This record gives sequence, C-alpha cells and structure tokens, in this order.
Amino acid sequence: MRAPKPQPRELQARLRAAYPDARCALDHRDPFQLVVATILSAQCTDARVNLTTPALFARFPDAASLAEARQDEVEALIKSTGFFRNKAKNLIGLGQALMARHGGRVPSDPTELGALPGVGQKTANVVLANAFGVPALAVDTHIFRVARRLGLSKAATPEKVEADLCRLFPREDWIELHHQLIFHGRRTCEARRPDCAACPLLDLCPTGLGQIKDPHLGVRLTVDPGPSAPRPAVAFPRPGAVRQDQQAVPEDPAGAPGDIASEASRRSPRIMSAPQRIVSLVPSVTELLVQWGLAARLVGRTRYCIEPRWIRNTVPAAGGTKDPDLGRIKDLAPDLVILERDENPKEVAEALTALGIPWLALEIRTVEDCVAALRELGIRLGVPQAGELRAAALEASLKGRRRKGPRALVLIWKDPWMSAGPDTYLGDLLRQGGFTPIGPDRYPALSDEDLEALAPEAILLPTEPYRFNRRHQAELQKRFPHAAVHLVDGQALTWYLSRTETGLDLVKNLPPR
Ligand code: SF4
Repeated sequence: MRAPKPQPRELQARLRAAYPDARCALDHRDPFQLVVATILSAQCTDARVNLTTPALFARFPDAASLAEARQDEVEALIKSTGFFRNKAKNLIGLGQALMARHGGRVPSDPTELGALPGVGQKTANVVLANAFGVPALAVDTHIFRVARRLGLSKAATPEKVEADLCRLFPREDWIELHHQLIFHGRRTCEARRPDCAACPLLDLCPTGLGQIKDPHLGVRLTVDPGPSAPRPAVAFPRPGAVRQDQQAVPEDPAGAPGDIASEASRRSPRIMSAPQRIVSLVPSVTELLVQWGLAARLVGRTRYCIEPRWIRNTVPAAGGTKDPDLGRIKDLAPDLVILERDENPKEVAEALTALGIPWLALEIRTVEDCVAALRELGIRLGVPQAGELRAAALEASLKGRRRKGPRALVLIWKDPWMSAGPDTYLGDLLRQGGFTPIGPDRYPALSDEDLEALAPEAILLPTEPYRFNRRHQAELQKRFPHAAVHLVDGQALTWYLSRTETGLDLVKNLPPR
C-alpha cells in the first residue's frame, strides 16, 4: 500500500488539540539550570532528572559553584541518572567553560553553545528553544520514532530527521511541535506498544494498524485491544444544564424536514454506558470517530464514509446518507446511530425509532455548532476529554473581530447551479475567513441570471460534492473577470467536525482577489 502524503497542517491542528499542555518537561528556572538538566537527561527519563536536580541546584546554584565542584560530590548527587561519572565530568567542565568564556552566563549563540562540554546538537537546540525562544527542533528518541512512523521522514539519523521536519513545518512552529511530538511519543505512540486505536493521528499515519511495516519495530502493528476496552460509564449533565445539547440537536416543533432530535438523549438514563456499536451516517463524523480512536466501536457507515481510506475494508457500508439500508443497519445491532440534520432525511430517524434503534442527530449550521457538537459527541461517546480539547481549541480560534470582506459565493453543484447560503456551515466558514457570504439561504438552485445578479467578488468551487475542476474554474473566471474564482479542496471545506480546523485555515488563507 502506498503511504499517504504527510499533511503537516492537519497534523499540527490535531496535535494542538490533543496536547494543549505540551511544554518542556524538565524543571528549570534559568538557562543554566536547563542546560544542566538537559545534559542529565541523556539516557534518562525527565521525571528522574526532575527528582535529581533540586538537590544538585541547592548545592551548585550557578556556573561559578559548579566550576569549583569536586567530581565525587557531583557524582553522588546525580548517580541515579546513569552514566554519572561522565555526566559529572561534563557538568564541572561546563561550569568552568561558562566562567572562562562567558562570564558565567549561558550563551544564546548556537556555535558557542555547541562548543560547551557535554552539549551536543540536541542539547543546544533544547536550550536555544526553551531558554531563549530561538526556533529549533531537537530530535530526541520520541520524535525520531514518531516522525518516521508518521512518514514525515525516512531518514536513519536524528540529524537528517530534524532537517526533514524543519523543511516540512514553518519555523515559527518548531518549538511547539517539538513538545507536541514528544508528548505524543510518550503518551500514545510508545516505542513498543503504540496505541493506534486511540491515536488522534491514525488516519494520517501510514504505519498505524499495520498498514505498512513499522520503521521502528520492523513489524506491522496490530490493534492493541487494551486501550479500546469499554470505557467507564459517563454521567450526563443535568437536563437544565445541557445548553450544548439544545444548540446542537434542536427539536423543531413544526416538524420541518430534517426534524430529528436526539432519541438517545430523550431516552437516556442519567447514567449511561458509552455506546460500543456505533453506526455513523455522516462521512465527516465517521472520520472524527477514527481520529478519536473509536474505530474499534464503529460497526457501520455509509458508502460515502470513505475517510480514512482503510475504513472501507474494515467497516461495512449500509447504503447512502439519504437512503441508508435500514435492514442492514438493524442486522448490525448498533447501540447508537449518528445522524446530521442536513445530511440525513428525518424519515431515517423516524424509521430508526420504529426499529427501536437509539440515534443521535447533530445540526451543524455554523462553526460554533461544531464547537457544541464536539463537546456533545465527546460526552455521549464516553470520550469527554477528546471532545473538550478539540472544542476548546476550535473555540479559541474563533475569537477576535472578523472583517466584512469580499462578497463570496460557494457553488456546490452545476446544471443547475446550486449554492450554499449564508445560513449554512459553509456560509459561516466564509464569514469566519473574512468573507461576506451571499445568495439565498440554505441550498438554492440558481439560474445564470441569478448568478449575474449576485455579482460575487469571490467564488469558491469545492471539489465535492460536485467534481468542480480547472475547466469549470476557467469558465467562471471568464464570466466573472473581476471576481477571484478559487478551486478548493472539497473535503477541507465541507467536512465539518473532522476537518473544521483545515477548512478555517483554507478560507483564511484565500487571497481575496
Ligand atoms: S497511528 Fe499508531 S503508529 Fe501512527 S502515530 Fe498513532 S500511535 Fe503512532
């Protein structure tokens, strides 16, 4: 199987959501303490170093005292970190070099730093990044392993992996990425037992679940049933406190099309086990569940749920989004079916109710609805932390004033033309990106005259659901010479929840002209 291309932006968005607390794990107060702690961390865990350094720094608080230290005294203080004779020699040499060449201060110049005893390229990068804020990407054992598993580098040395990562990611993100990859390597992508089933990067990872041979272990990985075992029961919030519930899954007393509310929530007892047999009738939700490490609980999908690709071979399809195969769904014996109000007709919900199958319907009309739905889904599925992390990161990205930019139209179909109106998720995505969405609400059909009358200043042509291509782009550009006509990645633009961050990035980076 061909490995998918690395997707640095998406990867960063996921890492940010999964590890918002990622930071330097070595306790330190100043550059001197950091360089000492980093030297001690060679072949030793950060936790062990943090247990060792308080006594060491109490006895030797600066370069001057360390320069005068006796070898046996330093050795005794750092013995538990391993290789203590060599490390003690380097620490005393470090103190002497700092006193002799730099007036006792740690230099922020990479060359001067690298010339100090015990300071290799990795240590220098750690100090530069964490003590002086200089963009650097030190590759340690975790980053080396994770980068190669994720297909970000095929290199066989940390130095070459570092060069590959620096080429792939923007310089201003190197420090943050360094910590996130280390956290990921420690918490999820462990050396011997990577928890692929619970990994937020699974669909971006060519190695996960044995898709290709793991470059670290030299074998194909298999699912580790341990972390995916049934989750603990989740207490639902008090009914009166479920604001997100009402926003994301509103009941419509008028019974309009798509009038599907949460049967699961209506019937749910206050304490309820997380569902273990889920059918998703929403392609982007299917992808989201995999991102949250819930692939093992997915028992059914629609034929349009095609991401990540391997899901097509492992989870059976049960019809389409508008016409799901209800008999097949019944045979799959789900304990929850997930729907979305625009994606699935209300008759599907009614039929599921008649079959006695619990369901949950989302309503996504704005990016803020995504925030609420992420929290809602996290709670319902027994992974509240995953939902909260992603929701909070998305919510934070929505802060700040939006400019009222160019009048923009998203076309979603041709013959007849159809657009996504200002009251849809796509309309709101445009708004968040600084455009002014135009056209009638919902998904109206438009004549050629309607298009002319709207006089868009920007037109977006997503590559799905209609397969717009460069020819369509050229045709429209000819008809609207003063508008910017953009052909854009349809999944990034339209797949809410699983790709909302990517969609926001996309619209924010579109040139207005
Ligand atoms: S899918 Fe598995 S191998 Fe890939 S990054 Fe996640 S834990 Fe590591």
